[in-house]
Amino acid sequence: MIPAILPTYNRAPLAFERGEGAWLWTEDGTRYLDMGAGIAVNALGHAHPALVEALAEQAGKLWHVSNLYDIPHQRRLAGLLVDHTFADTCFFTNSGTEALELSVKMARKHFSAAGQDRHRIVTVEGAFHGRSMAAISAVGSEKMTDGFGPLLPGFTQVRWADHDALEATMGDDVAAILVEPIQGEGGIRTLPDACLRGLRDLADRHGALLILDEVQSGIGRTGRLFAHEWAGITPDIMMVAKGIGGGFPLGALLATEHAAGAMTAGTHGSTYGGNPLACAVGARVMEVITADGFLDGVNAISGRFRQGLEGLAASHPKIFGEVRGQGLMLGLKARVPNTEVVAQCYAQHLLTVPAADNVIRLLPPLVIGEEEVAEALSRLDAAAAALTRAA
Ligand SMILES: *Cc1c(COP(=O)(O)O)cnc(C)c1O
Repeated sequence: MIPAILPTYNRAPLAFERGEGAWLWTEDGTRYLDMGAGIAVNALGHAHPALVEALAEQAGKLWHVSNLYDIPHQRRLAGLLVDHTFADTCFFTNSGTEALELSVKMARKHFSAAGQDRHRIVTVEGAFHGRSMAAISAVGSEKMTDGFGPLLPGFTQVRWADHDALEATMGDDVAAILVEPIQGEGGIRTLPDACLRGLRDLADRHGALLILDEVQSGIGRTGRLFAHEWAGITPDIMMVAKGIGGGFPLGALLATEHAAGAMTAGTHGSTYGGNPLACAVGARVMEVITADGFLDGVNAISGRFRQGLEGLAASHPKIFGEVRGQGLMLGLKARVPNTEVVAQCYAQHLLTVPAADNVIRLLPPLVIGEEEVAEALSRLDAAAAALTRAA
């Protein structure tokens, strides 16, 4: 019999009742160290006092009004995003997938409004942009698309790091190149800064737009507000979600005036997107992350974590391969099935997240401290020792 919850997830038999910072407690009081943060969502950890305050204060005043009216918290959040990024304008959504949908619409509208027939969007194999029809069509992987056809036309995938294929597929029907600066679901595969600059250049040479999906890599995760800042380039359009709401459902699409100019009244909308609750929380997240010294702290702690992970991998060569990623978007290549590593981490009361390419992801809250990093390393060490004994 089908369960009451559609069984599209392989769930661990764990239910958490409350959280604080990087820790989660089950109903029986067992404490778990959270190195997954809801897959890079709880950027400020669980129950951050500033976020609890922002949400509670707004909850007592006003939950929802339509986008037919001015929403002051939405204006405030948009102002913060525009001030701190390349963007001139933002549209708020409830998820990363919805931001993807708008990014495709916006890129196509940009060219159609200019009288150009450019609709094709070039993506990279192994990418993840969500689960809607456009998002799975964009990526085209067998695993995500099987049985869901016909897919939407107008997407081309090129193999990871295949520069020749990328050059070859560019043409005057390409509206945009869409990539994640660091593939999250794909296994913490980092686009080197030089490649990101190369993509910017390639898009410019062909008159196409560059769309970056920073849903997982953004909002301080890599030690800069957005990962592309490390490469010194800017996109035309950028998808944001996950960390921006700190756990409250919120996404955004950021764009330059040039890219967004054709999106006039009536061309797009959302009932809930940008609602007062989400934006009150999102603005508070932005204030905390952009405060003086916050990202310096992320860079300092991530340096220690990475160093510790390199040491861990070196002392368990049968279990772990290389360390990947940047800042607190880290991956450990596993040499035994990654699901076994994740399960053994559960046994050590440590939450990690599997990814493609047999990687386990470590995406702790950005507020993690030195003691918690040491604790995570020692639990990973115990998990690796147990896996070695079992092998
Ligand atoms: C999670 C994710 C998405 C989808 O976001 P949802 O909020 O689940 O719709 C898109 N792109 C990337 C890179 C992601 O990590």
